Amino acid sequence: MKAIKNYINGELTKPNSENYLDLFDPSTGAVYAKVPDSDSSDIEKAVIAASEAFPVWAARSVGERSRVMTKIADLIAENLDQLAQAESLDNGKPIWLAKQVDIPRASDNFRFFAQAITQFSSQAHEMTDAINYTLRQSLGVVGTISPWNLPLYLFTWKIAPALAAGNTVIAKPSEVTPMTAYLLSEICIAAGLPKGVLNIVHGDGIKVGAALTKHPKIKAISFTGSTRVGKEIAKVAAPMFKKISLEMGGKNPNIIFADCNYEKMLDTTIRSSFANQGQICLCGSRIYVEKPLYEQFKADFIKRTQALKVGHPSNTDTNLGAIVSKPHYDKILSRISLAKEEGGTILTGGKAVFPKGYENGWYIEPTIIEGLDNHCRTNQEEIFGPVVTIMPFETETEVLEYANSTNYGLSCTIWSENISRVNRMAKSIQAGIVWVNTWLLRDLRTPFGGVKNSGVGREGGLEALRFFTEPKNVCIQF
Ligand code: NAD
Repeated sequence: MKAIKNYINGELTKPNSENYLDLFDPSTGAVYAKVPDSDSSDIEKAVIAASEAFPVWAARSVGERSRVMTKIADLIAENLDQLAQAESLDNGKPIWLAKQVDIPRASDNFRFFAQAITQFSSQAHEMTDAINYTLRQSLGVVGTISPWNLPLYLFTWKIAPALAAGNTVIAKPSEVTPMTAYLLSEICIAAGLPKGVLNIVHGDGIKVGAALTKHPKIKAISFTGSTRVGKEIAKVAAPMFKKISLEMGGKNPNIIFADCNYEKMLDTTIRSSFANQGQICLCGSRIYVEKPLYEQFKADFIKRTQALKVGHPSNTDTNLGAIVSKPHYDKILSRISLAKEEGGTILTGGKAVFPKGYENGWYIEPTIIEGLDNHCRTNQEEIFGPVVTIMPFETETEVLEYANSTNYGLSCTIWSENISRVNRMAKSIQAGIVWVNTWLLRDLRTPFGGVKNSGVGREGGLEALRFFTEPKNVCIQF
């Protein structure tokens, strides 16, 4: 059985303990590979390698850094098929989705930051008898920790700006979906990335993630994952005065006014509800529909949802693949039971699916729930699966109150052709990202992140390059 390896100091190595965790294929429920069960001693090795590599990498010209990163972007693109298959096998997402979204975006992340760093500049402030200029210097060794839902996509979204800004990196992918991070280490070797510049240490959150967070030589932690773990990381990193960027959970509202472009809204709402089995932090899981449109929307949304095919991730006609892991599958099913206990009516879905030949895999029907109060747990807590609730509303003020009623504040979608209303709403919504008449349309230059319990700090474009550099004011009097 394939055992993947850590990538430390330019080499593919076994974990010190020589222990491994099982890696599951969600489409069959079977173990298909092993992932290193690393610990703090592996992190220590990586810190030594990254510390030695740092001065050399930071001193490289921007052009040199950009060239090797562009080579990595090219190699990701050249290996699209292999990477997409690996991502799908590890995560359960349809292969077509990994091919269209995850892997191209991972390549784009490297290409984007390879270019962005060549355009990065700092400010000068002139006084009558002096000039101030700002240096933006690399931080040193930084840590990145990422989740399982968009494995290579989110892994590279952090690594690329950190490397472009001249830092050396210790990266921890999710232990649930580590395969494409391992394949990326092979790509980095082939691209000629100098040893120690990027180190990838596999293992669970408690041992590897925590060791990374608390290591005194790690200057910054960029984390994407649950709010619960984000809180743990903040508790450790804040008293050590590390820079932290936390991208966490969401419970995003999808607000539909009666004057929307109906067909576009319906097509997009199907995607924003169930893409990637609903396991995207930006999915709209609370759907508020203006009363005059409610019954029509309900009927059409149910019909369109029932036409979605849940099946093996390798089938080209599969809309929803498998849920990433058994614990997550159990959690989603228990949340559907909770919704029923809370008085919700399951309009469609609500059950596990057992596709022929893959009966031991973890599949769940896309599920729509109606009749729940805005304040119940189902409408307040993140489920992170193919489960949405629908609720009618009458006024803009009322729906704004509903939308802002959770502890989360990642994204929001508004559907309306009334330009004054959407501008008013966009201003008042408590979220880091507001999509109007679209969803998941991304420009990598824009600030990305959440407010409230969804996040601290912003990723993307210059925000990421600012996070991964320290500004220093130099004041010279004439
Ligand atoms: P998770 O928080 O369980 O794990 C995320 C990462 O943190 C994993 O690599 C894990 O091993 C590590 N980890 C766990 N415990 C740790 C600890 N004590 N110290 C350091 N690291 C630790 O999240 P998940 O289940 O992998 O991902 C799903 C969550 O991620 C959802 O809540 C989702 O909303 C969120 N998410 C947010 C965004 C965003 O951009 N805001 C994007 C994707 C996913």
